[in-house]
Amino acid sequence: MIDYSGLRNKMVDEQIIKKGIKDERVINAMRKIPRHLFVNEALAHRAYGDYPLPIIESQTISQPYMVGFMTEMLDTAKTHKILEIGTGSGYQTVILAELADKVYTIERYNTLVVKAREIFNKLNYNNIVMKTGDGSLGWKEFAPFDRIIVTAGAPVIPEKLINQLNPNGKMIIPVGDYHLQKLMFIEKNDEKISIKELSGCMFVPLVGKYGWNQ
Ligand code: SAM
Repeated sequence: MIDYSGLRNKMVDEQIIKKGIKDERVINAMRKIPRHLFVNEALAHRAYGDYPLPIIESQTISQPYMVGFMTEMLDTAKTHKILEIGTGSGYQTVILAELADKVYTIERYNTLVVKAREIFNKLNYNNIVMKTGDGSLGWKEFAPFDRIIVTAGAPVIPEKLINQLNPNGKMIIPVGDYHLQKLMFIEKNDEKISIKELSGCMFVPLVGKYGWNQ
């Protein structure tokens, strides 16, 4: 078996720490999680590069820096209940599962859910609850959430998600047009909502009732 720990530490040093991520918990999680397991075996040697990679169903595993940045912004605590929309490969899910109490994750392709579940089991994560479905609706049964992360680009911030955020919660979501978005950071302070625009980004579309049609 190939040892990827050298490449993984290089990724964290050069793409995460050098680019400004400071939260030690995020840094340690990214040093720990074997990112190469979340891509096709033929792409494993590229899993620690500074770019997104293709996964099945024409979707992508996000660039490592983007995962680090979004996770740091969420400022997750061990007591938190998190909702993730867009499981994809499951890499971001596991980073969150390292930092939070429980992660609820929704993916629209069942093929991706099945694949991600296999990896979660292999790595022994039992604080992840997943389902196949339209995440733009949120997950009412388990709301409210302390943190919400959306890893697909939405045309607008889905109101249902804001409603499912706890009164002092935080949420991060790419919003914009079909190909190009801006990361939006939403904070609730005793129900008062503030929205901040962060950096530009490119995510695959959020397809669903409160996303794009296709
Ligand atoms: N964070 C993931 C990772 O680390 O692999 C990357 C996620 S990928 C950029 C976005 C994912 O969102 C895709 O797998 C896509 O199928 C999913 N998606 C798009 N619209 C969705 C929706 N309405 N509900 C749930 N998942 C959705």
